[in-house]
Amino acid sequence: MPELPEVEALVQDLRGRLVGRAISRVDLTAFSALKTFDPPLQALHGTLVDGVERHGKFLDIDASGVHLVIHLARAGWIRWRDEVPAVPARPNAKNPLAARIVIDDPDLEAQPGLDVTEAGTRKGLAIYLVRDPREVEGIARLGPDPLSDDFTLEALRRILESEGRKQIKGVMRMQSIIAGIGNAYSDEILHAARMSPFKPANSLDEAELQTLYDALRGTLGEAVQRSSGLAASELKGEKKSNLAVHGRTGQTCPVCGDVVREVSFADSSLQYCATCQTGGKPLADRRMSRLLK
Ligand SMILES: [Zn+2]
Repeated sequence: MPELPEVEALVQDLRGRLVGRAISRVDLTAFSALKTFDPPLQALHGTLVDGVERHGKFLDIDASGVHLVIHLARAGWIRWRDEVPAVPARPNAKNPLAARIVIDDPDLEAQPGLDVTEAGTRKGLAIYLVRDPREVEGIARLGPDPLSDDFTLEALRRILESEGRKQIKGVMRMQSIIAGIGNAYSDEILHAARMSPFKPANSLDEAELQTLYDALRGTLGEAVQRSSGLAASELKGEKKSNLAVHGRTGQTCPVCGDVVREVSFADSSLQYCATCQTGGKPLADRRMSRLLK
């Protein structure tokens, strides 16, 4: 799932490709992905793109005051194409294409475009067309952006204290508490902070708070730096090759050489290093103990 650094990189990439150009049409092929009906998608036809912004994990294309907002969910992605077919895309169950945004550029012979795709059968991709991005409930509810200037140590302290004894891993993933962090980067930040994912949010002492704050800003900031300038097609590989523990169950912790362990839940799992994060004591997980036998 794309998180803050990948969406930020997509936004930067799209800004360079879209701003100042006009949208000639939008083909919607996965009808259930469109969550709004007013204004209609046709309102975009012929509009000039003024800007591309990010709100948490949401991508926001501002086309002359009409905002096309996209949430890529688990398996959504964006692909720039230098040339798209002249014939409008049609719904096709076998094709991951959910929507195509066709760009009108009189200087070019071919029409370039943006394909919004979603792989798999569990559909979560969401597209909104609104006059103000805050009309999207998920955006209106967003907590502070962890890379913004006002996300200070004090801000993090207030957030964690107000979440009581909830596990820190879950708190970091709640978009209404902190915007943009998902399963992968919460694993990575906690590993960098050498902190157990199950640590209660309000139990951090002053030194731990500072360590977590530095890990949070550092991990996300470095990921944004590495990703910026990369094309959408390069981002997934870039993310994967730089993860220390997330998605690396059974592999070696790059910091201490211990094996990366996992705790599995009904529809997700977390990864961590026991030596780095839990004083060498593995967290309980039935499936993991089977794997290690
Ligand atoms: Zn380790």
